[in-house]
Amino acid sequence: MIDLHNHSNFSPDSNTPQSEIVERAIEKNLQVIGISDHDDLDTSFPYSYRLKDPAGYLESLSLLKRNSPIKLLSGLEVGIGSSCNTPPEGEFDYFIYSVHSIPGIDDLEIDNIWTLYLEESLDAIKGLTGPGFFGHIEFLRRYIKGHRELDNPVLLEELLRRLVKSEIGIEINTSGWRAPYNESTPQPWIVERYLQMGGRYITIGSDSHRACDVGSHVEKALSLLLDMGVREIFYCEKGTYMPLKI
Ligand SMILES: [Zn+2]
Ligand SMILES: [Zn+2]
Repeated sequence: MIDLHNHSNFSPDSNTPQSEIVERAIEKNLQVIGISDHDDLDTSFPYSYRLKDPAGYLESLSLLKRNSPIKLLSGLEVGIGSSCNTPPEGEFDYFIYSVHSIPGIDDLEIDNIWTLYLEESLDAIKGLTGPGFFGHIEFLRRYIKGHRELDNPVLLEELLRRLVKSEIGIEINTSGWRAPYNESTPQPWIVERYLQMGGRYITIGSDSHRACDVGSHVEKALSLLLDMGVREIFYCEKGTYMPLKI
């Protein structure tokens, strides 16, 4: 069906050519595929990933789009934070806004890590408006020992409220189903809460860094959404939300 979160060899942590992502998407019968390489705006962290060759990235996507039998979108996963959240200029179809790091924090095992992550996320989205998707809420679960769940529902509620108000969508990031905790990122109750608060703009992304993960567990995300009564999800084309019936 759809996968808007894929990393190609324009990201420092993937070796997959863009063409292979598209080929894999066709094999998996996806209708819409988005390539969304990393561009972390704050480069002061050891694992900050800037987009390699921004002009070449867009040019290569535009060439691929001409021959693609399925809808191919030029995205970017913009790493935002309290110090910067302005996405780069360019012919992007959409942005995934992700908080990947917290200033001054390198130990994820501290007790209040989720509070700090949510505070940073709230600061990071100040002034941002949709269209666009907030990436992988609960992202730190990948790295925290024991994959400890988010534990500050009050701040989470505030984050969701602000996303809804700013018309920023969220993604169901399916990478959690490839992790030992075997759950969507974020957990289903968080998606449900976003919907209850009036959120509409939900998309699905595998967060693939290898061709074999393109489109992985998209069916699970769809069935989760259908169970919640959702009948359409969204992608963005040229900066405009487009619905897709499910
Ligand atoms: Zn990310
Ligand atoms: Zn990603």
